[in-house]
Amino acid sequence: MVVLKTAAELAAMREAGRVVARTLAAVSDAARPGTRLTDLDQLAADLIADLGAKPSFRGYRPRFARTPFPAVLCLSVDDAIIHGIPDRRALRDGDLLSIDCGACVDGFHGDAAVTVPVGSVDQAGHRLIATATEALAAGIAAAQPAGRIGDISYAVQTVCRAAGYGTPAGFGGHGVGTTVHEDPDVPNTGRPGRGPVLREGLAIAIEPMVLEGGRDRVRLLRDGWTVVTADGSRAAHAEHTVAVTADGPVILTVP
Ligand code: MG
Ligand code: MG
Repeated sequence: MVVLKTAAELAAMREAGRVVARTLAAVSDAARPGTRLTDLDQLAADLIADLGAKPSFRGYRPRFARTPFPAVLCLSVDDAIIHGIPDRRALRDGDLLSIDCGACVDGFHGDAAVTVPVGSVDQAGHRLIATATEALAAGIAAAQPAGRIGDISYAVQTVCRAAGYGTPAGFGGHGVGTTVHEDPDVPNTGRPGRGPVLREGLAIAIEPMVLEGGRDRVRLLRDGWTVVTADGSRAAHAEHTVAVTADGPVILTVP
């Protein structure tokens, strides 16, 4: 069931989004060669608490998971696409790090992600990250009132495919509100004019994932969470929580 949000509820989501954006900025800044993933997770835990919010992911068990997520951030390095669990590994020069953060204020969540280069990354890595960012911008631009979810999916897919990248089937965006994952699904592939109507008050996470190898196949690691490319190629991921309003799309996960 799709739950539309009131202006007051969107204002609460905007506060959650602010916390998410500030946390992503701080963690991005700290993501340098030699930094341990668990240190980045602790940094996020401390900052979210300081800002008076609660982390959305720690202890959260969505319907697709066998176990609750054990950390504050999803940190996915190189061939890991999404849902990587922070461990004690240290980042290395040239890594691509996807940082995915959720935070909750007054019962409402925000959900966003960025992929950042660690140290000096090759040109192909920068292009991969830029494409995920560009696909996200295209998806957000398509989130217009009276449009359809398929308009967003098609916009995201068009950017990913034009760049020659794969995008995993079965993983994409979602409604956001009093839980992190609500209806509707926001797939990263689809056709314009199809799917649920984008009504004012709809709040959705749009989250393109691009796979460098150009194939769409993925694999789930034995931890039950981490989704990796089947061909071992690198991936990038970008996400914002966006509200559909009479004036067009409004990004909630910005400072
Ligand atoms: Mg996310
Ligand atoms: Mg999400």
